[in-house]
Amino acid sequence: MATPLSHLAVPLALTAALGPGLAPPGLMALALACAVLPDIDAVGLWLGIPYTHPLGHRGLTHSLPFGVALAGAGSLLAPEVGAQPSIAFLVLLISAASHGLLDGLTNGGLGIAFFSPFSHRRYFLPWRVIEVSPLSLFALLSRRGLCVLVSEIRYVWAPCLMFGLAGFALRVLFGWG
Ligand SMILES: [Zn+2]
Repeated sequence: MATPLSHLAVPLALTAALGPGLAPPGLMALALACAVLPDIDAVGLWLGIPYTHPLGHRGLTHSLPFGVALAGAGSLLAPEVGAQPSIAFLVLLISAASHGLLDGLTNGGLGIAFFSPFSHRRYFLPWRVIEVSPLSLFALLSRRGLCVLVSEIRYVWAPCLMFGLAGFALRVLFGWG
């Protein structure tokens, strides 16, 4: 996986770009949850579910159909958080789907079951540029952890920051949101 912190970069950038008018704080909170929730399957590693199992790490919960289901369920809360349901669905879908896509850019572990439950075949994206994050917090504090953070700053945080700032600049420039 990429580190859990870096999975937050996409929903943060997206909601910052859209602004509080289209993406109020409640929607941002839902988007942050959708971006990290796929790693709930890591619990399976401690429960004895093999990595390669359809419910194993990077299996069903990392798939695009799971992202659609998560976004659909989350968008039911759109009125509660003051967002339009269609905008909420798109923001949550991008946030949830970004998790598997970012993991698909890492250079370790097994691939992502992008089409689970319809196919359990696992894939990586063609550009495996992100150093895979160790599951242990202690390992993250090592020299290897530093390499992980540097690669995530370069390939996740920097592009997300640019995207968020560009959206913010456009909103200010044209008076949107
Ligand atoms: Zn993951």
